Amino acid sequence: MTTSTLADRLRQPEYTGENRCTPCTIVNVVIAAALSLLLGVAWPPLALVSFALFAGAIYFRGYLIPGTPTLTKTYFPDRVLRWFDKEPTPAHVGAAASAPAAGDDVDAESPSEEVETGQLDGDGASAAAFDVEAALMDAGALELDESGDELRLAPAFESAWNDEIARTDEDVARRWLARMTGVDEADVTLESRARSRWVVAMANGTTLGTWESDGALVADVAADATLDGRLDDWDRLTAEQRSALARGVRIYLDRCPTCGGDVRFGSETAESCCRSWEVLAVRCEDCEARLLEVDAESLEPEAA
Ligand SMILES: [Zn+2]
Repeated sequence: MTTSTLADRLRQPEYTGENRCTPCTIVNVVIAAALSLLLGVAWPPLALVSFALFAGAIYFRGYLIPGTPTLTKTYFPDRVLRWFDKEPTPAHVGAAASAPAAGDDVDAESPSEEVETGQLDGDGASAAAFDVEAALMDAGALELDESGDELRLAPAFESAWNDEIARTDEDVARRWLARMTGVDEADVTLESRARSRWVVAMANGTTLGTWESDGALVADVAADATLDGRLDDWDRLTAEQRSALARGVRIYLDRCPTCGGDVRFGSETAESCCRSWEVLAVRCEDCEARLLEVDAESLEPEAA
């Protein structure tokens, strides 16, 4: 047996590569180091040899101790797991071309703050930067209902948005992503990764944005096209702000962009490798597509 086939036999793709879980890997490296130190007490060279073996196991198999995800879930504080968790933040469009050096971290963190405020139920703490709700009312996308307390889609906007949704397919979405981020349309790919719950738009190895489903992306592309021309300062909006507006409109989606089915709103438990948390999700009743997801915790300040 050659080395490569041995490596292939040992490798567990479901726990390595893009599926590797950072908290689990850290826990395992710490355990490996502690075990190696113990063995080193018996015979010092053993510490090095065992650590090399353990590290190899973690590299190829994703973990050393079976059941680490459960272990990690149980004993790691959720705050720590959230920090490392690779669950993408939903539906932002990163400006890949304008900020290449800043890298993924900046893209993943700061726009998500914007998107968070973009949710109409946000606490408004950082809404001073960009008031999504006010902008959507300015644009005539949202209006107050008869009671004067609740916002709803303005009928004219809603029908224009639905027309756009009907026109929007994957090609339109890829063209839109290319325009928004300044990359070549031919480089844009849309993938639903095997174990990921998200549709990820990529170009040249950079994440352009993530959406709950193809339907969620279609809704946003169509909302952006419908909002174009309805705001005076449209041309000055950043990709993140336009993305936040589209997501703000998506909260009011009442039909599935993919199959036309009715949608329902409810709480669910989302899971990643070693963590589970409560989310509020909008789903299609017919095809079960996840059309919007909001981390329940992000809404708590207002709910409490
Ligand atoms: Zn559907």
